[in-house]
Amino acid sequence: MIAYLERFVHGNDVESRQNDNDDGKDFCDALDLQGSIDCVATGLAGKDFGGLRSIKPLALIRPAGTDDVARVVKAAARSSNLTVAARGNGHSINGQAMADRGLVLDMRSIEDVFEVVVVNGTAYVDVSGGALWEDVLKRCVSGFGLAPRSWTDYLSLTVGGTLSNAGVSGQTFRYGPQTSNVTELEVVTGKGEIFVCSETENSELFFGALGGLGQFGIITRARILLQPAPDMVRWIRVVYSEFEEFTRDAEFLVTQQDGDSFDYVEGFVFVNSDDPANGWPSVPLDSNHGFDPTRIPKTAGSVLYCIEVALHYRNTVHPSTVDVVVDGLLGRLGFVENLKFELDLSYMEFLLRVKHAEEHARTHGLWDAPHPWLNMFVSKSDIDEFDRAVFKNKLKGGVGGPMLIYPLLRSMWDTRTSVVLPEGEIFYIVALLRSNLPYPKGPSPEKLVAQNHEVIQYCIENGFDFKLYLPHYEIQEGWKRHFGNQWTRFVERKANFDPLAILAPGQKIFSRIH
Ligand code: FAD
Repeated sequence: MIAYLERFVHGNDVESRQNDNDDGKDFCDALDLQGSIDCVATGLAGKDFGGLRSIKPLALIRPAGTDDVARVVKAAARSSNLTVAARGNGHSINGQAMADRGLVLDMRSIEDVFEVVVVNGTAYVDVSGGALWEDVLKRCVSGFGLAPRSWTDYLSLTVGGTLSNAGVSGQTFRYGPQTSNVTELEVVTGKGEIFVCSETENSELFFGALGGLGQFGIITRARILLQPAPDMVRWIRVVYSEFEEFTRDAEFLVTQQDGDSFDYVEGFVFVNSDDPANGWPSVPLDSNHGFDPTRIPKTAGSVLYCIEVALHYRNTVHPSTVDVVVDGLLGRLGFVENLKFELDLSYMEFLLRVKHAEEHARTHGLWDAPHPWLNMFVSKSDIDEFDRAVFKNKLKGGVGGPMLIYPLLRSMWDTRTSVVLPEGEIFYIVALLRSNLPYPKGPSPEKLVAQNHEVIQYCIENGFDFKLYLPHYEIQEGWKRHFGNQWTRFVERKANFDPLAILAPGQKIFSRIH
């Protein structure tokens, strides 16, 4: 069987692709996989949401379950140079789930696991690492009236994919990222061994895999903490002209006790113009709401700011009670009077809100276009200067899509995971979610990537305390700087769990050891 693999790697230009697939079948038979392998139709595995690179793998494997994943990793370990990339839903930007002439595992194909368990009075759900969060949501709410506590904005992402990064949204200030809301994992290491791990059992693997960029193991199952799902959500946006007032109020909201604040807090920057994608029209929550620009103070600059909040409530609560709570909370904020937008919707509709944006983007040819996105965490100590130099200056015309900025609390993150953060309790997530028509109708992706580099370079040159989120570096020097004093721990974890550097080669952190 190893001979097959070696021939695959070295003789990939075999005359007929059909032969490749026959060999794939042989490979599958030899490995005794319950799933399937495809050496011809690997298209899916060579692309991602970023659309900035396309890399051909040797084969796309659809594992049926954890045993298949382990068999594939073990086979790769016995070969001289094969790598294995777990592919969640391929929503990375820079080829992180790809494997150049390696084996890509389509994690969405692994067997469906969905079991709600109650341990010491607390409910959890066990789900497969390849499950989409939107399916976890629907099944938990409709079947049990329960839901995970911490989300991402968009839910067509896999559980294993977001847990390998962090998983951040408007609930993170309250419950921490998704990595802080999982208590047990089943992981296949780079040696092909299967482990169940948690805070107390195989804890180094557990914390290593959380935020581990797929470097230490493939997450095949996760146990996620649940809470009772609310029925309804009041979703609100309020506008600010001054950055200092925006940050003061956003920080106030994220530092209040549970019950004294909203259930969700985010924010974004938008352009002070009537531009449909970047400006005033991007703020109202409903097409019936209009944005009245005469309300904007005369002192306002090139960009404006919006705090976005949400309050959960039950159907049994009278709307006037919700009004009282919301008015009480909003009454403590200093947003521009009458630039407030509100919408009541079901909890599921709220969590699935970005699905509408996806549909709209697909209709307009924006979804399949390149997405040179940039995500970073910037310390509170540098955020004013970041606003002045980046939002008010470099990006004052917008990025063709949302420019998110909202505060998070370091104490809600577990420092034992592999994620690295800026110092200081409060830091901001900044996300430039560029959404442009493909070149030449829109700007060239190279130009936008260069603009991202300029932003990063500015932060480095000015000594900002920041980290990339969903990081991407081409060379190890970049990774060393990224991990800083956590680099040694990261390298040790790699040596323990994936000594041949087989896993997640698309992250470009380590090279396969031959
Ligand atoms: P992939 O892109 O397929 O994989 C990402 C990395 O994880 C790869 O290195 C891969 O090898 C590895 N991996 C995948 N599955 C596993 C597994 N089971 N075990 C181990 N490693 C694995 N992020 C947020 O935090 N908050 C947001 O609000 C948010 N919104 C987004 C909205 C959109 C439209 C998009 C495109 C992305 C968004 N993201 C957000 C980013 C998203 O969390 C990451 O891109 C995540 O990696 C995507 O998950 P995926 O399942 O597509 O993973």
